[in-house]
Amino acid sequence: MKKKVIALIISLSVIISPMPSVSGSSMAEAAQKVYYVPGSSYAYHSSKDCRSLRRSKNIKAITIKKAKALGLKKCKIRGCW
Ligand SMILES: [Zn+2]
Repeated sequence: MKKKVIALIISLSVIISPMPSVSGSSMAEAAQKVYYVPGSSYAYHSSKDCRSLRRSKNIKAITIKKAKALGLKKCKIRGCW
């Protein structure tokens, strides 16, 4: 009886936290929205208000995951992150 309860708890915790131990980035981080300008920039930004985006009109919001898939690099401007 006790063994059954323990097995149930273990299987429940697996359902609740199915996160594989990916080093570094969490799921939430991967889904975070970032901003970039297609064609003219090779960086992604934490906010549309980043200095380097001020003159850009065609700002797109994508997830960090997609930005990385596009080969975009994290913006290095101070204040962006
Ligand atoms: Zn930036």
